[in-house]
Amino acid sequence: MTVSIWQADDSQEIREVDVLVVGAGLVGSAAAYFVSQTGREVVVTDARDLAMGASSRNAGFLITGLDSYYQSAIDRYGRDVVREVWNLSRRSVQYVQDFAARNNVPLDQCGSYLLAETDDEAREIEVAARLMNEDGIPCEFLSEDPLNRGYCAAIAQPWDAAIQPYKLVEAIFRESGAELISNNEVYHLSQTDDTYAVVHTRKTIFHAQHVLLCTNAYSPQIDPYFVGKIIPTRAQVIVTAPLKNGPVLNTCGYSDYGYMYYRDTFDGRLLIGGGRKQNKALEGGTTDDRITDPVQQVLENYLRERFPDVDAPIERRWAGIMGFSVDGMPLVGRLPDKPRIGFAVGFTGHGLSLGAGVAERAVDMLLNDAHPGAVSAERLH
Ligand SMILES: Cc1cc2nc3c(=O)[nH]c(=O)nc-3n(C[C@H](O)[C@H](O)[C@H](O)COP(=O)(O)OP(=O)(O)OC[C@H]3O[C@@H](n4cnc5c(N)ncnc54)[C@H](O)[C@@H]3O)c2cc1C
Repeated sequence: MTVSIWQADDSQEIREVDVLVVGAGLVGSAAAYFVSQTGREVVVTDARDLAMGASSRNAGFLITGLDSYYQSAIDRYGRDVVREVWNLSRRSVQYVQDFAARNNVPLDQCGSYLLAETDDEAREIEVAARLMNEDGIPCEFLSEDPLNRGYCAAIAQPWDAAIQPYKLVEAIFRESGAELISNNEVYHLSQTDDTYAVVHTRKTIFHAQHVLLCTNAYSPQIDPYFVGKIIPTRAQVIVTAPLKNGPVLNTCGYSDYGYMYYRDTFDGRLLIGGGRKQNKALEGGTTDDRITDPVQQVLENYLRERFPDVDAPIERRWAGIMGFSVDGMPLVGRLPDKPRIGFAVGFTGHGLSLGAGVAERAVDMLLNDAHPGAVSAERLH
């Protein structure tokens, strides 16, 4: 973003900090937690407030993996990379489950079903399940629809879960013990000295030894490095009123290659998200988090067709902005012209199941020069 000389004239106080995290979503909060584990001082700044971005607008699915099925991910990235990223995701999910258990965050260990809408998708998930089993990832291929709602087949992933995502971020942030400065947008980044980076925010000019950008979809607005690498992408959800006869799913359902997803909420409503496949042009490249009629229509039709037994009215509709990376995998690295500034972005709709583990690697890179492995942004250079 740009800021006028009237809004900020660079006379803000200068503050020296050890580690500055930009973005107080799930990833920024987890990064602050991992920094605090090293005993260092960490300050988090956000343009809005804690978890006001995608981290509390999502569906709350902890579904292990990336946005593509295992075998298509192998075709795209190679088997070693996919094995590594799935293991990283399992580690992330475990972190989230531990944070939730320690802080009484609502979590339903309900598992997930990856469901096939067509015979073609059924054939693909059968191959995916076989390859996952070969790589030691426990899951089961089911040739019959476990939900009895007209799906063609499914993969059962018993360790997956559904969570209350806002309370999760609150818990992680609380455990980090970090200082949060809200309503404090970053509008300029620079590094002219080897020993610190300069971060201009509305209230303060930080001189930070290390900076970590956890700004996901909004990253291209902060630094041109991200333009063309991170594509803001809108996602939308509907939620019904509480259902009279209780939950209809008791699982996280994920189908049509991840374009549709559905779960019960903790107070007995049905949540349905997705609908982007038919509206990609409308939903890509925007940071406008208003809902749109075409996507809402797809979600309502899905509710009627797949859940004809649910007659409760829709009570909530919302949208949020995801950060899709150009190749579908998270990006961890340092800004080439400002090496004291690192980043962990590009979660491509899977930040709940990848965010904590990726944040851990990003902090290790920033503070210890560790290589971030398969999620390294070097692959794009
Ligand atoms: C509708 C929807 C459903 C989803 N469902 C799931 C799901 O079920 N499971 C799953 O794993 N993932 C899901 N996702 C994706 C998931 O929510 C994201 O991957 C995850 O929240 C990313 O976390 P983050 O902390 O990187 O980003 P965000 O939560 O978006 O945080 C980025 C933060 O950066 C701040 N910021 C931006 N610019 C600046 C600036 N200039 N200065 C200071 N601060 C700034 C923002 O205010 C924001 O707080 C969904 C997303 C949406 C929108």
